[in-house]
Amino acid sequence: MSNELFEKAKPILTQIQQQGFQAYFVGGSVRDYLMHREIHDIDITTSATPDEIESIFSHTIPVGKEHGTINVVFNHENYEVTTFRAEEEYIDHRRPSDVHFVRDLYEDVQRRDFTINAIAMDTEYKTFDYFNGESDIHQAIIRTVGNPSERFAEDALRILRGLRFQSQLNFSIEDNTFQAMVNQIEDIKYLSIERIIVELKKLISGQNVATSYHHLIQLDAFKYIPYFEKLDMQRLIIDEPMQFDVWIAILNAKMNNEEPLSKLKISNKEQSHIKHLVSIINQLPEVNSKSDLTMMVYDYDINDILTIIEHTPTLSKNHIKTASPLIINQQTIKDSYQQLPINQRQQLAINGNDLMQHLNQQGGPWVKDVLRKVEIAVVTNKVSNTYNEIMKWVDSHVKI
Ligand code: ATP
Ligand code: MG
Repeated sequence: MSNELFEKAKPILTQIQQQGFQAYFVGGSVRDYLMHREIHDIDITTSATPDEIESIFSHTIPVGKEHGTINVVFNHENYEVTTFRAEEEYIDHRRPSDVHFVRDLYEDVQRRDFTINAIAMDTEYKTFDYFNGESDIHQAIIRTVGNPSERFAEDALRILRGLRFQSQLNFSIEDNTFQAMVNQIEDIKYLSIERIIVELKKLISGQNVATSYHHLIQLDAFKYIPYFEKLDMQRLIIDEPMQFDVWIAILNAKMNNEEPLSKLKISNKEQSHIKHLVSIINQLPEVNSKSDLTMMVYDYDINDILTIIEHTPTLSKNHIKTASPLIINQQTIKDSYQQLPINQRQQLAINGNDLMQHLNQQGGPWVKDVLRKVEIAVVTNKVSNTYNEIMKWVDSHVKI
């Protein structure tokens, strides 16, 4: 059980305590530690107010001061330190009308979503577990802190968070918690797409996605999420973990989808990555020979191709045509890549001007077409990449 990260963070808790306040580790890091999972970011909860935290530490960043969160920079690491907080009435099924700072740990953990996420731990690794989170961890159960209907009515994102923890941790959802999810799923329509996507990304790449995805379908969740709302999501079978981008690409390759990717409010870079993945999938049935594969490896990012091929079982289950595994598999992809004579058009021994001069012709759309033909010939080893060889090849193969 690795506690290296907690050991590194301990002095922060100690310094807060020396000023007479309480401070604990809390949330995902404590849960993952107790589960012997790898810990990533450490969250700290404290009775000290944000102003008090700022006065205790020399290097702080007020990332969310009004909500109680200050980042403490300590030994070049960033730690989120949040003041014990209680929440007022919720509005719109997604946010409290107000938050106020409290001096009592119990009140703070009471507002947290699931029992497994509501365990606090001190510098001696002693846990403060008011809602039997440790027992739920041992039984692999996801259960809300308090009444599930009330907790989901406050913030409907918790429904999706519950399903994503189910996927990531391979836990099952306690009956009442699940029933409330079924009854209240519609409330996710009040959430921002950005918050939804954060959870869907984690859900779709979780080890137990088969179950969680099935639950999303069973709950008809996609009906209430922009972009997916009009699609017949039931037709898409997902039963292995994958990156979010791959999921959306498979969805688009399978279904006739008019919705623009921008509705997901993901970055342009991510949108274009998804489009590349869709092109690769659409291209697969046309890869019928070694040179077809060579061209694919040249035209697209090799890692994207490898990723798509890894998900051949999902493509097949969804009746998306793929290529023969004899022609395209992890090994042939890597071999083809290593044998590429050039990696991009700029490496060709000729350019458009050379062609115009050699053929004594004015520029025009033909230049691009001929360049592409030359590129294919060089990449597939029909001609070697030297000026003279290419021009000889052009003279005998290209008619303008
Ligand atoms: P991860 O390992 O993915 O970071 P996490 O449990 O740390 O999982 P975060 O989203 O980082 O999840 O949130 C940190 C903690 O804040 C949670 O463990 C939980 O105690 C609390 N929390 C987060 N979101 C909510 C929410 N919507 N409602 C109630 N509590 C929440
Ligand atoms: Mg976290």
